[in-house]
Amino acid sequence: MGKDVMHELKSKSWWDGSAEMWCGLKFKAGKHAGYIFASVSCPACKAAKKAGKR
Ligand SMILES: [Zn+2]
Repeated sequence: MGKDVMHELKSKSWWDGSAEMWCGLKFKAGKHAGYIFASVSCPACKAAKKAGKR
């Protein structure tokens, strides 16, 4: 509980439903309800995307 950090989705696997965030965080299928596109609050996600890392 507490504050939720919103990560930005980088890619999603349609094979197993897992999702990877820009900061490198990975969520397993059904565990990635936290990702969001509009209000990303994860500094690592923002930095990674800004740096243009793929
Ligand atoms: Zn993140």
